Amino acid sequence: MPRAFITGITGQDGQHLAEFLHGRGYDVYGMVKGQNNPKATKLQEEMPFVELVPGDLADLPSLVAALQYAQPDEVYNLGAISFVALSFSQAELTANITGLGVLRMLEAIRMVGGGENNPIRFYQASSSEMFGKVRETPQTELTPFHPRSPYGCAKVFGHDIVVNYRESYGMHASSGILFNHEGPRRGMEFVTRKVTNAAARIKLGLQHELVMGTLDAKRDWGYAGDYVKAMWLMLQQDEPGDYVIATGQTHSIEDLVERAFAEVEIENWRDYVRQDPKFYRPAEVDLLIGDPSKAKEKLGWEREVDFPELIKMMVDHDLKREARRANIEL
Ligand code: GDP
Repeated sequence: MPRAFITGITGQDGQHLAEFLHGRGYDVYGMVKGQNNPKATKLQEEMPFVELVPGDLADLPSLVAALQYAQPDEVYNLGAISFVALSFSQAELTANITGLGVLRMLEAIRMVGGGENNPIRFYQASSSEMFGKVRETPQTELTPFHPRSPYGCAKVFGHDIVVNYRESYGMHASSGILFNHEGPRRGMEFVTRKVTNAAARIKLGLQHELVMGTLDAKRDWGYAGDYVKAMWLMLQQDEPGDYVIATGQTHSIEDLVERAFAEVEIENWRDYVRQDPKFYRPAEVDLLIGDPSKAKEKLGWEREVDFPELIKMMVDHDLKREARRANIEL
């Protein structure tokens, strides 16, 4: 059986990818950090097939030990400080984990063997946030980077160091430049989930207001379940490479709010929404829209879930969850 090692296993993508790889017959190892990590306990209950291995992206020896134990064929580096807003207040931590963490993982692979004579294949979770103040629209693999947050800067370092290790040491190391991808497992701090959860709660009478930052920014939102398949496809290619993974469509935050409220049959959504500067960011990414042509051509990858289906999936999930928690019959 092929063996996969995933960092960030307790996050949204880690969970989707673990399920996907398990379904394809992989032995799945997931790295977890810290002592008595509540997310790890929950993951183990929900996905008993994953073997958890201790390790921390800030600690190179722990990465070496984890790889020596798991002996993986494929390493997926999804671990990061992933919330852009938090990266402004914890910039050094973000640089260390989201940026230098990639370098440490590549070094760990080299140490346990991952050069030309070693078959370990590596996937790096690069990000559309690297495009930031976009230089061209839509964004492709060749669009120059102009990150707008410590998170974006750290991801640029991670991306560039993957290219460098590929070129320097012949490693099979690939990067997926993933545009925003969402779903019912998305953390509540991200805008899609914050909005779908609020729409559900307002519908159920559990909440009366939704406090937002900018409504003007535009994102290319896809479904996380579709996107993890692209990660795997990249590692099945003979040659490593970089791929934009996106839907090719963009929507504003306002569209998102309107669509989520429409799902719960509330038309006058403006009556419930207030904007507060505390959710504004020091620098904003105004417009993201990716061109996934290369992924389609070389990987045969296409998104299956579109924007309206994605928002419906999330709102339906949140309605059921909130109703269950509040003992409300739907
Ligand atoms: P990001 O693209 O990785 O930053 O993903 P997010 O889901 O965190 O944010 C997407 C966009 O929504 C950004 O332009 C945010 O500024 C904007 N936004 C507006 N209001 C909010 C809010 O209340 N929370 C979050 N997370 N983002 C918001």
